[in-house]
Amino acid sequence: HCAEVKGALDIQDISYTYYGSDEPVLKNISLTIGAGDKVALLGRTGCGKSTLLQLLTRNWDPQQGQITLDSVPLPQWQEAPLRQAITVVSQRVDVFNGSLRENLLLAKPEGRDEEFCEVLEKVGLGALLEEKGLDTWLGEGGRQISGGERRRIGIARALLHNAPILLMDEPTEGLDRRTEQQIMALLLEHAQDKTVLFITHRLVGLEQMDQICLMDEGEIIEQGKHHTL
Ligand code: ATP
Ligand code: MG
Repeated sequence: HCAEVKGALDIQDISYTYYGSDEPVLKNISLTIGAGDKVALLGRTGCGKSTLLQLLTRNWDPQQGQITLDSVPLPQWQEAPLRQAITVVSQRVDVFNGSLRENLLLAKPEGRDEEFCEVLEKVGLGALLEEKGLDTWLGEGGRQISGGERRRIGIARALLHNAPILLMDEPTEGLDRRTEQQIMALLLEHAQDKTVLFITHRLVGLEQMDQICLMDEGEIIEQGKHHTL
C-alpha cells in the first residue's frame, strides 16, 4: 500500500525554536536525502539531532523552512500514509504495559506469531522468547525487561513495520560492542533499498553510509563521505 512512497526527504532551510525558549535549537538546516540513501547524523549531546527527527516525523513543525517527502511538503501528507512511510527507532524505545505480542502488533497489526518469533530470534531475543513466550507481560514502560531487551524490541518493531524510510536515534546505545555490530549489520541488511537516517555518537558502520553529517549547536557544520571527513 505504501509501495508508491519512494522515500526521498528534502529538508529545506528549517529552523526550530522550542516553545518558551528564545534560542533556536535548529538553525537553517538543509539536507537532501535521496530515496534509498543512507545518511549518518553525528554531533555532540544537545546539538539538536533528536529534535530534527521529531520534525521529520511531523511531531512538531518548524517555524521556518519546510521538509518534503517525495517532493510533497509534510503538512500535506495525510496521517496514515505518513505513518506507513516512516519507521522510527527512537532514543528511548516506548514499551507499553502489555504483552510482548501486543507490543509487536503495534508495528504490524496483521502480524502472525510465527513472524514475530522469527524477528525476535533475529534481534537476539530468542532466549527471552523461549523462556517466557509471546504472552509475557512487559510491564509499565517495559519495566520487566532490561534496557538491552527494550532496545531489541524497538528494532524488532522497525523490522516488522518495514517502511521505506527508517529513522534511527542511537538504536544501539547501551548495547555491548559485539551486539551493536550484529544489530547494525541486521538493520543495514534490512534497509538495503530503504532510506536511512541514522543518528549516532559512535563511529561504527560509518563507512557504509552514503553521507555523513556533522551537527553542532543546531547547524550542519560538515557533510560528506566517510573518507573525505
Ligand atoms: P543527545 O545526543 O543528547 O540525544 P540531541 O542532539 O538529540 O542530544 P536534542 O534532544 O535535539 O539534542 O536537544 C537539543 C536542545 O533542545 C537541547 O538543548 C535540549 O535541552 C533542548 N530540548 C530538547 N527537547 C526539548 C523540549 N521538549 N523542550 C525544550 N527544549 C528541549
Ligand atoms: Mg537525542
